[in-house]
Amino acid sequence: MSQRVKLWDRYFDLFISAETLENRIGELAAKMEADYLGKRPVFVAVLNGAFHFASDLTRKYSDKCDITFVKYSSYQGTRSTGQLKRSLGLQESVFGRHVVILEDIVDTGLTVAGIFEDLSEQEPLSIRIASLLYKPRALKHMVKPDYVGFEIENEFVVGYGLDYNGLGRNLPEIYKVSEH
Ligand code: IMP
Repeated sequence: MSQRVKLWDRYFDLFISAETLENRIGELAAKMEADYLGKRPVFVAVLNGAFHFASDLTRKYSDKCDITFVKYSSYQGTRSTGQLKRSLGLQESVFGRHVVILEDIVDTGLTVAGIFEDLSEQEPLSIRIASLLYKPRALKHMVKPDYVGFEIENEFVVGYGLDYNGLGRNLPEIYKVSEH
């Protein structure tokens, strides 16, 4: 585990260790298991960023569930473009199901609000949002995640699925951008 990594032109400092991530994700999975007892929820993981979170969370969720993926993007470099691009829509119906959207991070809320709207059209029984990270100060859309791993300041982070121009997704920890 490095204390500092360099990706392209920027340095990033260790912020959340792999062990802390694992423990918190275990707590979220246990909470969801209690909330969805006997309900067989559908987890909809948002690619690319949520792949580690979805994998670790669902392996700790021991009751029956479905897991599927969508792919949306809105970020370029360290900023939201303000426009949502849908690259892969949902392949199966969620009509009459309990849906949990799995996101890596809710920043402006644009992505998760768009996904919420798209999924609502299929008339699921319920939709909740689980986000590993949440930047409440950056929020611009009316979407508060129901399950949050960590609330963080409005700072750019990488690792554990999150990237800076394509780099950093493979890091097992989360790092935040350094000013120096
Ligand atoms: P939102 O649509 O503005 O809420 O942003 C959501 C998406 O932007 C996330 O799924 C990430 O892909 C990306 N994103 C937002 N903040 C960060 C960050 O700090 N680091 C890396 N990607 C981010």
